[in-house]
Amino acid sequence: MGQAMRRVGLLGGMSWESSALYYRLLNEAVRERLGGFHSARVVMASVDFAEVEAMQAAGEWDAAGALLAAEAAALEAAGAECVVLCTNTMHKVADAIEAAVDVPLLHIADVTARAVQDAGVERVALLGTRFTMEQDFLVDRLRGHGLDVLVPDAAGRTVVHDVIYGELVHGVVREESRAAYVDVVAALVERGAQGVVLGCTEIELLLRHDDVDVPVFATTALHALAAVDFALG
Ligand code: GLU
Repeated sequence: MGQAMRRVGLLGGMSWESSALYYRLLNEAVRERLGGFHSARVVMASVDFAEVEAMQAAGEWDAAGALLAAEAAALEAAGAECVVLCTNTMHKVADAIEAAVDVPLLHIADVTARAVQDAGVERVALLGTRFTMEQDFLVDRLRGHGLDVLVPDAAGRTVVHDVIYGELVHGVVREESRAAYVDVVAALVERGAQGVVLGCTEIELLLRHDDVDVPVFATTALHALAAVDFALG
């Protein structure tokens, strides 16, 4: 069975707080499905987030794409049979990564959209970084699956973004921030959202399913499980 399992390539470090969650979820799911001593076959590339964050802040997306494309190629050379990019935001450069490898990139928005649709939800709120909420790379990909996507208003987007970069990527989880997120989600539900996509891989370290009244689509968990489906194909 060990040989039949495909090897997952994790492209992480953005931030490592959520990459650690990916690694745990992958292994827990493989243990659950195969039992015994089974664990996931994984190769991982983990970048220095300071470099990536500086490129994001400067709008140097081509440079970021080149950096991640090189990391993805290294994963493939190390035997990865798919690439799992452990961040929503950096899916902005998904094309550059896909162009650098022959193995598939398991796109986080495709995985998420399928889960939303399976739950019978059509209008969904999206929380994430400012890049993810305000640019079209992820929103359009979700809309391409037929979903209606709502993002928070300007004040809400600032709260959500600032908590990610000021707290969550540093491993800081605060009750006040959880409460602030609950308020942001409530406003979106008021506007008609039937569910909420945690479209940043650290948010599920903060917000739990029972914190809000609508279905929660946690991208890290969904993405990790999609990787296990691929591995056990
Ligand atoms: N992990 C985050 C995301 O899913 C934000 C950090 C990053 O910019 O990559 O978007």
